[in-house]
Amino acid sequence: MRILLLGGTTEASRMARALADHRLPAIFSYAGRTEAPVAQPIPVRVGGFGGAEGLADYLHANAITHVIDATHPFAARISANAVTACARAGVALVAFERPPWVAGAGDDWRHVPDVAAAAAALPESPANVFLAIGRQTLGAFAALDRHRFLLRLVDLPEALPIPNAEVVIARGPFTLDEDRALMQAHGITHVVAKNAGGSGARAKLDAARALGVPVVMIDRPGIPARPVRGSVEGVMGWLHEAPAAVGSGADRGE
Ligand code: NAP
Repeated sequence: MRILLLGGTTEASRMARALADHRLPAIFSYAGRTEAPVAQPIPVRVGGFGGAEGLADYLHANAITHVIDATHPFAARISANAVTACARAGVALVAFERPPWVAGAGDDWRHVPDVAAAAAALPESPANVFLAIGRQTLGAFAALDRHRFLLRLVDLPEALPIPNAEVVIARGPFTLDEDRALMQAHGITHVVAKNAGGSGARAKLDAARALGVPVVMIDRPGIPARPVRGSVEGVMGWLHEAPAAVGSGADRGE
């Protein structure tokens, strides 16, 4: 058995810990987006593979038998590539996916299908917007110079594509008290969030509920069907059940 763990999330770090504790041979893969990624207890590689074809080549070259896709639910390209590459290489694939957040009593969420629709859903009148969507898709808000934006990012970007933006540098998990205080200090009137799920980024939604602030919730992108588990234990169980990869090192007795 030789595992490739596609990471970049809290879930992936928890999975890496479990693989190390069980002494399973595994490699952790980062895209290389942040300057100081979280250290891992298993060997790490960094950078893209070169599309689905490059990933399939990597799986062959490194005798990978199992792939665990623990990337962010909005990282749709790498997840689709993993489905294609694993099918091509005959490697078993599972996704470690957290359930999406669901609105409860007291929440005021407006669901939108993508980032462009989130920008269009903001009001005509000036608003103070907590734009909690990371750095990569900020360009969709570039023309909205009537609003003030609060951004929370892991690294300070060299340039920002949007006007009237204030940046807070922080890495989750965040607490309700912290996020409520942050939103009050900036007079936030609207939150824009991706439906990431999980606990680490949930606090802004609880803070929005507590403060009566509406949330523009970007729903998850579609990803091709693959086996999904929702916990470390679920993925460990899958590893024990999943058939050995075809044409891999396992089949060659390595
Ligand atoms: P994406 O759009 O699905 O992927 C873009 C390209 O980045 C992929 O085609 C692949 O390049 C490379 N890539 C992505 N994840 C990789 C990984 N774990 N290891 C090696 N290469 C990877 O992904 P994204 O939205 O840019 O996210 C990039 C990373 O940040 C992911 O690992 C994700 O877990 C993490 N992240 C994303 C978000 C988010 O909101 N999107 C939030 C938190 C963390 P090649 O085609 O060259 O292989």
